[in-house]
Amino acid sequence: MLANKTALVTGSTSGIGLGIAKALARQGANIVLNGFGDVEGPKAEILALGVQVAYHGADMSKPAEIEDMMKFAAERFGRVDILVNNAGIQHVARVEDFPVAKWDAIIAINLTSAFHASRLAIPAMRAANWGRIINVASVHGLVGSAEKSAYVAAKHGVVGLTKVTALENATSGVTCNAICPGWVLTPLVQKQVDAKAVALGVSNEEAKKLLLGEKEPSMQFTTPEELGELAVFFCSPAGNNVRGVAWNMDGGWVAQ
Ligand code: NAD
Repeated sequence: MLANKTALVTGSTSGIGLGIAKALARQGANIVLNGFGDVEGPKAEILALGVQVAYHGADMSKPAEIEDMMKFAAERFGRVDILVNNAGIQHVARVEDFPVAKWDAIIAINLTSAFHASRLAIPAMRAANWGRIINVASVHGLVGSAEKSAYVAAKHGVVGLTKVTALENATSGVTCNAICPGWVLTPLVQKQVDAKAVALGVSNEEAKKLLLGEKEPSMQFTTPEELGELAVFFCSPAGNNVRGVAWNMDGGWVAQ
């Protein structure tokens, strides 16, 4: 379905971003990976799906590096057809204790980077009259949780950016939508599981159950594979008129 299309997924060396990149590659899209840590493993996983893959190591907190990544993708593949703004970090502390540098980093990586990558991707998408911008927000783009001020503020901002981007392009073939996962067992959440296990003196398995029990009625983690299939739907012909939604996949978290 996505042969001859190129998808750039930020923060795709791990977790949800890698899951989405693999789902899009299974549909035939060439992939531009981004993110830190091991690059060769994720590259090999994408190559095994029979598409082309490239990598750019832009730090998503740095606008000049984002600009360089978008130029690199256009030079390598001609154009970015699908942009998935996924890179994100977390830090947990009360507002009065929140380190200022962490606040700035979370807003830059989780919110501002999506603005930069989108503004740089839209002109070529408009010229082709086809494009998909998928912003990985969170249930925390829809509701709050204590001790996550920067993350919740950034993710509510991402949902707002999604709506405005969708509206500005509503009469074109360029759509913009957000995905709002509940708990997904990636390294980002494993850190929170580990902290809970230590704080309460319980096992890792018990800490996972407690984490799910607080928020997620299904008592199941959403998987990167499930989120990848939602991204595929947004890219499918049936997704043509889905514009500006924030679609939660959260085991019932925000239904409560
Ligand atoms: P993860 O830690 O597994 O992956 C994060 C990715 O972002 C990695 O590839 C990392 O290298 C990259 N990254 C981090 N800082 C970066 C930077 N400055 N520049 C470029 N890349 C950077 O986390 P994840 O859980 O897969 O999270 C991915 C997205 O999903 C985030 O936006 C997160 O907020 C969101 N999300 C996660 C969950 C969850 O439960 N895990 C729930 C809702 C939303």
